[in-house]
Amino acid sequence: MDSLVKSAGLPVAAGASLLGAVSYYCLHRSATSATPKPLKKLSTGVSKNSTIVLFFNEGSTQCINLPNHKTDECALTDCPVRHLRTLQRIISKATTSVDVCLYNLNQPTLEKALVDLLRSGKRVRVVVGDRDVVDKGSITRLRSEGAFVVEKISKVPPGGLLPNQFEPSDLLMHHKFVVVDKKILITGSMNWTNKSFDHNYDHIIINVDPYLVNQFTEEFEYLHSTSCDDEKAYSTQPNGQVPFEVIFFRRFNFLCRRDANRKKKCERDDCMFYNYKFILHKIMRATVSVDLCVQQLTTEDLSNELIFLHNIGIKVRVICDKEFSTGTGSQMQYFINSGTYCIEVHRLEGDGSLHHKFVIVDGETLLAGTINWTMQSFFGNYENMLIVEDKDTVRQFVDEFEKLWKTFPAISKV
Ligand SMILES: [Zn+2]
Ligand SMILES: [Zn+2]
Repeated sequence: MDSLVKSAGLPVAAGASLLGAVSYYCLHRSATSATPKPLKKLSTGVSKNSTIVLFFNEGSTQCINLPNHKTDECALTDCPVRHLRTLQRIISKATTSVDVCLYNLNQPTLEKALVDLLRSGKRVRVVVGDRDVVDKGSITRLRSEGAFVVEKISKVPPGGLLPNQFEPSDLLMHHKFVVVDKKILITGSMNWTNKSFDHNYDHIIINVDPYLVNQFTEEFEYLHSTSCDDEKAYSTQPNGQVPFEVIFFRRFNFLCRRDANRKKKCERDDCMFYNYKFILHKIMRATVSVDLCVQQLTTEDLSNELIFLHNIGIKVRVICDKEFSTGTGSQMQYFINSGTYCIEVHRLEGDGSLHHKFVIVDGETLLAGTINWTMQSFFGNYENMLIVEDKDTVRQFVDEFEKLWKTFPAISKV
């Protein structure tokens, strides 16, 4: 197991021991499939809350295109091929099922791992959007090998709009999560595409927290089994009492976008405005610092709040992507021109795309997921946002933020 951890190149901390637990669990399960032991017995000594985070932070690399790339000899701290092999290993050790819910999937190694599972009689279920962005080749091949694929429709159904209501553009299936054997969650901001593996600043979170895994498993069941006609909006609410919490965003939340505009909840019990406010409040409660690292930020409620926090002396730092910092509605120009002293913005100027979507509050609370900070994401897409209080996990993101902050230059205009 040591060599497995070493070859995965993960930091020796809770992350490594989690991978150890996951690997051991997988190896053990495959060796004794007749009498499988539950994960919790095998992870003795490992915190159930520990998390592996795979960061992708090299911009453009050639690693993924090099045949038989020797990751041990790779100069990159976070070789994307090493991370890819970690994922492949976890997927291929599945003993019963893999549930895949991805905005975009065309990574050949991971596609092959799923095909191999299907050929050995394991269950693979897939939820994707119906948009062109999804590589239909991968989906078609998985379907032909026996995967049960559900495509979520992105158009608003006829009659779905109330009079005078904001009309959304396509409603995206923007999740990027996979659940293995209903025990291991793989989530984060990263799509399973070659471009993501060799081009993006991005992250993947691997977690075995039973509560969190169960939340994602239930959401998968919902997404996989619900036809568009029976869909509901968000139906549960975060309680803020556990180290790993998740908020799911559903397509029909577009009905509540007008609630955000008029700043009040509608008559629905599960009004999405509640969750939107819940997330904003997490940030508004900052007493020391807010560190934000997101690809897209057009949500004025958030930028107003960040400027307010900055003006009362909270340390606000923003890392952004070059392409989206100048896009329509981007709030970066307001940060740079805010208050007596500007909010400091650092930007990726070199190769690659900054694809992260995370915020750290007071160095203690992490908000991370698939959500770009746009109204479309909060009110209209299938998305998720983790709210993490677990110290070890948050620390990994704090370290990554500091690293990127030092790497990317400050900008004085967009
Ligand atoms: Zn490499
Ligand atoms: Zn509402």
